[in-house]
Amino acid sequence: MAYDTDNVFARILRREIPAKTVYEDDHALAFHDINPQAPVHVLVIPKGAYVSMDDFSANASAEEIAALFRAVGHVARDVLGLAEAGYRILANCGPDGHQEVPHLHIHIFGGRRLGPMLAR
Ligand code: AMP
Repeated sequence: MAYDTDNVFARILRREIPAKTVYEDDHALAFHDINPQAPVHVLVIPKGAYVSMDDFSANASAEEIAALFRAVGHVARDVLGLAEAGYRILANCGPDGHQEVPHLHIHIFGGRRLGPMLAR
């Protein structure tokens, strides 16, 4: 799947639409989800143009991969203060994963007991 340069997260990275940013570095941006599914719901995205975790894991550099996962941990621990109580990370990929925005994003959920992983 080719990268759509007009997807909503590409537009957030270009500052064409606003986001409630909580963290930014050379490789990653983190911001509040517009439709939170938990008391804390933040998205962490790479700044590179990667459609999904499939694309990212195949094509991103080791530096980009390390930076994204460092950013997820830093945001959860140091920005959101979730390390002790715990949190969930999630990356939907493709149609079966119900990925809606075609730019890789890692959800961080927290702030309450989240229950089992999938609705039953
Ligand atoms: P996914 O289903 O994993 O692709 O999740 C996409 C997420 O992006 C959803 O949780 C949406 O609420 C969120 N979202 C869509 N547009 C925006 C936006 N402009 N700012 C912040 N989050 C957004």
